[in-house]
Amino acid sequence: MERKTPLISQEDLRRQEEISDYIKGWWQSQGVTPVAYVETYGCQQNEADSEQIRGILERCGYGLTDQAEGADLIVINTCAIREHAAQRVFGNVGALVHTKRRHPGQKIFVCGCMMGKPEISERMKKSYPHVDGIFSPHHLWQLPEHLYRVLIRHRKAYAVEDSDGAIAEGLPVVRTNTIKAWVSIMYGCNNFCSYCIVPYVRGRERSRLPEDILAECRDLIAKGYKEITLLGQNVNSYGKDLGLGVDFADLLGQIAELDGDFILRFMTSHPRDASHKLFDTMASHDKIAKQFHLPFQSGNDRILKAMNRHYDRAQYLSLIEYGRKLMPEIVFTSDVIVGFPGETEEEFEDTVSLIEQVRYEALFTFIYSPRPGTPAAELPDPTPKEEKNRRFDRLLAVQNAISEEKHKALVGKTLRVLVDGKDGDKLTARTDGGRLVRLDGEDDLIGQFITVTITDATTWSLVGALTPLGKRMDAVTLRPAAREDLRTLWEMQIEAFSGLLEKYRDYETNPGAEPFEKVLARFEQPWTVYYFIMAGDRPVGVIRIVDKKDGSRKRIAPIFIMPEHRNNGFAQAAIRAAEQIHGPRHWSLDTILQEPGNLHLYEKMGYRRTGQIERINDRMDIVFYEKD
Ligand code: SAM
Ligand code: SF4
Repeated sequence: MERKTPLISQEDLRRQEEISDYIKGWWQSQGVTPVAYVETYGCQQNEADSEQIRGILERCGYGLTDQAEGADLIVINTCAIREHAAQRVFGNVGALVHTKRRHPGQKIFVCGCMMGKPEISERMKKSYPHVDGIFSPHHLWQLPEHLYRVLIRHRKAYAVEDSDGAIAEGLPVVRTNTIKAWVSIMYGCNNFCSYCIVPYVRGRERSRLPEDILAECRDLIAKGYKEITLLGQNVNSYGKDLGLGVDFADLLGQIAELDGDFILRFMTSHPRDASHKLFDTMASHDKIAKQFHLPFQSGNDRILKAMNRHYDRAQYLSLIEYGRKLMPEIVFTSDVIVGFPGETEEEFEDTVSLIEQVRYEALFTFIYSPRPGTPAAELPDPTPKEEKNRRFDRLLAVQNAISEEKHKALVGKTLRVLVDGKDGDKLTARTDGGRLVRLDGEDDLIGQFITVTITDATTWSLVGALTPLGKRMDAVTLRPAAREDLRTLWEMQIEAFSGLLEKYRDYETNPGAEPFEKVLARFEQPWTVYYFIMAGDRPVGVIRIVDKKDGSRKRIAPIFIMPEHRNNGFAQAAIRAAEQIHGPRHWSLDTILQEPGNLHLYEKMGYRRTGQIERINDRMDIVFYEKD
């Protein structure tokens, strides 16, 4: 099938580049370094667009400022999703008349979703004469041209005509964060949920080509970004317009396979298109965060139908069930709307019961806001505002109690987090599930994956303490044990096994009861290597690799991780380090009657079971795995 989504031609993009250079030169000739202020309303997609706007402005010679006052250019990137956001935009753009009076050369542009609605852009044009330029999301890539018209030609720029929304690849980007990056994988939406304005202002679904997305991700990882969030209004329908046979799960898997230490997230999903394949892909890649934002909007089937959502409560719940079965640790979050036109008390209670059933970690709760032009805005809506507010407060109370309980249950657990910044004197970090953790620590931890022990919890966040060895697996190396190390190694092995002694008390090869001589005898075997698992300069465990004499397979005899370092990824990191030394191919794992934890670990690392199992005795199996 032919690709339907057109790309903006290289020639057109080059022309915009030339105009950018011209504007830059023009500013230089004035002896001025201009500064621009970009203000963003609404969702992550708008944040991502603003990063492109900043990129284009930088190419036009602008420096960036975080203050409207005194800026040579102000760009307001608007959101149309709810009435309240739209009103704020009108209020704030109105107030800029005073800012401009104090700085007469100042230019003001308004763009974003609101400008995709003709009646709104028309109102902006007519009633706000101090605004110099208006453009809709489809015309963002032509910003240099709009600027040229305003700055050099002293005219107004107005680019809001509907278009097919062709994709502009390779626009410059100034990212606001050096650790986390947004990557738009598609634009627009085909779903036409009856309450939603997005399809009208952002157009139909258009997917970027997989190779362009992969190249962008590769570049981000090379630059040291540690978290990538793939963006789209409905990422689950990625690729349908391309006809290349690549769906979202395929794309996600391909990105997760890229080298480097990073975590991969995505938003937003639509339950109608969220496939089992997507969950399977998440489960089989370590680098994909076990977090799923799956908006349900309502727990009542009549309302879901009126919303044009194309799934019912039972189908939604079965998706949650599937995800949890596959990944018990998965974190679900969601969006919900209260007070959809005609929603009865009973129907609202269905939403409450769904929340209680699923028990989300967090929820984004919205009161329905009529958007002119959408079908829902035509529906009779007899429920008074006060009643909707009451429902909203009730939902919030139910969810807050659940969030707090879920957070409290994490106290005492050791979790991997990515430290992403600072708030006051505390470091801020996110768990793989996206929970906010505050902790004390040095600034040089920012941008690193570390392990923390959760010491306290509130509704909104967790409090963490750096584990004795906070810097996680980046630092893991394997150090071969020498003969004089063997006693230390033996003692570590015993200590690491101590918590399990009770369980395996009478188990004959219990390393906790293993005599030192046995370790020594194994050390003498030319096909056995003992390694210390080193995190930085501290040993956190022991791994023994056994090479079959003909070299056909390797075996990992049980890995021992010291109790205080368990569950923080060191075992996986050690296997990875062992792969580097001994090659991946054929491995086997000694396992105590196929202990699920051990098997899960291997499968998580992309090994497949060959089906072959060798029974050593009635307590122990060797399970065979392969990896190409
Ligand atoms: N594409 C995403 C989806 O399908 O969930 C997100 C779209 S929208 C930017 C984010 C959320 O805003 C929606 O999930 C919905 O809960 C809410 N929303 C959209 N239109 C709304 C409206 N008219 N009134 C209240 N909430 C609305
Ligand atoms: Fe709006 Fe529905 Fe599209 Fe989300 S899926 S952007 S809620 S129309």
